[in-house]
Amino acid sequence: MTAQILDGKSLAASIRSELRLEIKAGLGEGKAQPGLATILVGVDPASHIYVRNKRRACEEIGVKNFHLELAEDIGQAGLLDQIEEYNQNPEVHGILVQLPLPKGYDYDENRVLETISASKDADGFHPLNQGALMQGRPAPQPCTPKAVMALLQLAGMGDLSGKKAVVVGRSNIVGKPVALMLLQRHATVTICHSRTPDLAREVGEADVVVAAVGVPELVQGHWIKPGAVVIDVGINRNEEGKLVGDVEYSSAIERAGAITPVPGGVGPMTIAMLLANTVEAAWGA
Ligand code: NAD
Repeated sequence: MTAQILDGKSLAASIRSELRLEIKAGLGEGKAQPGLATILVGVDPASHIYVRNKRRACEEIGVKNFHLELAEDIGQAGLLDQIEEYNQNPEVHGILVQLPLPKGYDYDENRVLETISASKDADGFHPLNQGALMQGRPAPQPCTPKAVMALLQLAGMGDLSGKKAVVVGRSNIVGKPVALMLLQRHATVTICHSRTPDLAREVGEADVVVAAVGVPELVQGHWIKPGAVVIDVGINRNEEGKLVGDVEYSSAIERAGAITPVPGGVGPMTIAMLLANTVEAAWGA
């Protein structure tokens, strides 16, 4: 069996063009242009690339981008002041602070995320919004987990009643929220992490595998249950400097029913979901 490739790049392109049309129509009706503020602290090259891609995507579909690049030593108080300004700015509907913040300073990421107004929380990381997700109430939801769910939909896995889903990774930004979303779609969910004793056995029982670990090709292809749907969130460089996911793609593709590539799977869909969150924050769902 060779798996269906879940092409996140082309799904993201079609979501962006739908959003572009929605924005064009909304502006024609006199609605305010959706605005996203991006805040980048320091000089981390990967963060600069991620933010540049997000800003380009805004420009492409007609979201107004407000952007700040702050020195790495701006400090917690200086950063919070800038967030407060965007909270007060009526042209800004979504705010994103690129993580991680520079090491060796007094930054408190939790406090930073709590300072973003919950209604402008384009990344869905505010504790109020995370609590709403836990309770199944409508609120901005984190972009990567939303991207995972959209890719499952593409694989024909919209309703997961009777399915077993295994999430590898328990971070607040990917693993835990994905697990909650899978639960909402009626899957029976297992969360695995660095202290799970037999990861191969857990993965081998799953109809849906979501890998969000950050270890190159940790999930081996022969672990995958034949026909399972595999969503690979990981973005890593292997020893040869090649971009790879958390799943051993070349062998997993022979067993899975459907699988996301890296790059070109979850990554572009995450940006599409960020744009969707911004439009939703501006104009409602
Ligand atoms: P994280 O480091 O916060 O969390 C990693 C999780 O993996 C932890 O819960 C840890 O317990 C678990 N883990 C570590 N080693 C393990 C092991 N050997 N066995 C089982 N579990 C193990 O990472 P994160 O922020 O959730 O990101 C995970 C990956 O996803 C990274 O590669 C990151 O770059 C990528 N990512 C991609 C996108 C995207 O848009 N595609 C977005 C966010 C994160």
